[in-house]
Amino acid sequence: MSTSDFIFNGRAARVVFGAGSRVHIERELLALRAQKALILFGQEQLALGTAVADQLGSHAAGVFDRATMHVPAELVTEARAVATSLGADCLIAVGGGSAVGLAKAIALESGLPIIALPTTYAGSEMTPIFGVTEAGLKRTGTDLRVLPKTVIYDPELTVTLPVALSVTSGINAIAHAAEGLYSRDANPLTSLMAEEGISALSRSLPRIVSRPDDLSARSDALYGAWLCGAVLGSVGMALHHKLCHTLGGSFNLPHAPTHTIVLPHALAYNAEAAPDAMKRIARAVGHDNAAQGLYELSRANGAPIALKEIGMLESQLDRAADIACNNAYWNPRPLEREAIRTLLQRAFEGSAPQT
Ligand code: NAD
Repeated sequence: MSTSDFIFNGRAARVVFGAGSRVHIERELLALRAQKALILFGQEQLALGTAVADQLGSHAAGVFDRATMHVPAELVTEARAVATSLGADCLIAVGGGSAVGLAKAIALESGLPIIALPTTYAGSEMTPIFGVTEAGLKRTGTDLRVLPKTVIYDPELTVTLPVALSVTSGINAIAHAAEGLYSRDANPLTSLMAEEGISALSRSLPRIVSRPDDLSARSDALYGAWLCGAVLGSVGMALHHKLCHTLGGSFNLPHAPTHTIVLPHALAYNAEAAPDAMKRIARAVGHDNAAQGLYELSRANGAPIALKEIGMLESQLDRAADIACNNAYWNPRPLEREAIRTLLQRAFEGSAPQT
C-alpha cells in the first residue's frame, strides 16, 4: 500500500461504550462541568427519556419530549426557549437522528454541550452536520458547535429497535462508510474505520434478524454504526447521499429504507471509477462484488429493495434524476443524467444493481 498526502479531521467526541453504560450519564455530565441538563427525546422514546431524567434527579433541568423527524424550525425555537427558561447548561439527546438533530439545532445558537445516547444506527451523533426544516425546505450545514461532546453507546437501548428498522438503519450506516471509502477526502484512518464498520454491521444484522435481543449482535452493530458515523463526520459524501437527500427531501420517502434501496445501485454506478473502494466494501460484506453483496444483504434480511414499495411513483423518476444532477456533490464518476435515470428506474423496480 502506498500512502500519499492526506488531511484527517479527527472529531473530538468522547465515547463511552458498553451494555448498561447509561449508568454513567451523571458522571459524564459532571465531566463536562455541567449541572443541569435538558433531556430531549421523541414521544416513542417517552419511557426511556423519562427514565434518564429520573436517573439524573436534581441534575435534570427538565424534559422536552417532542423531538420529531426533519427538525422543524418552530420546534427548535420552542425547545431552545425551554432550555433557556430552565437554565439548562447541557443537552442530553436520547434517541435516533431526530432527537440528536434537535439537540444540534439548539446547540447551534446556544452553544450548549450535547451528550448523545443513540438508539438507532443513523450515526448523526458522530458528525458536526445539522439540518433544520423551515417552510418545507431543509437547511443543512456543518458547525463544530453541534458535534456532541460525549456519546454514550449503550447497546441495551437498541434492543427495542424493530428488526425492519434495525436492518435499514444499519444499511444507512453502511452507506456512510461505503461512500467514505471513495470520498475525495478519504484517508487511511477513515478507510480503516469504514471497512471495519461495514464488516461489523454486515455480520451483525443477520444475527439481529434471527434474534433481536442478542446483545452481542446489538453491540457489534452499534460499534459498526459508531465507526460509520465517524466516517460521515470526517469526509465528504457523494452520489448516493445526493440521491437519498433528493428522494427524501423532494419526494418525502423514509430516510433509512431509501438509503437501503439506493446504495447497491449507487455503488454499481461508481464501481469502475472507484475499484479500490469496491474491493474493500466487497471484502467487508464477504462477497466478490460490493453492489451485489449489499443488494443480497438487504434481500436476505427482509429489507425493502424497490422504491415503489416505499411510496415513490414512476412518474416522479424524471424529476428526481433532474434534481439529483443539479448542484451535484463531488462523485468519483461524473454524473450522467441518462445513466442516473436508468439507475433510478432499477431502484424503483427493485432490480439487481447493474454490475
Ligand atoms: P429517528 O430518530 O426518527 O428514528 C426512527 C424511528 O425509530 C422513530 O420512529 C423512533 O421513534 C424509532 N426508534 C428510535 N430508536 C428506537 C428504539 N431503540 N426502539 C424503538 N424505536 C426506536 O430516525 P433515524 O433513522 O435514527 O435518523 C434519521 C434522521 O437523522 C434523518 O432525519 C436524517 O436526516 C438524520 N441524520 C442526520 C445525520 C447528521 O449527521 N446530521 C446523520 C444521519 C442521519
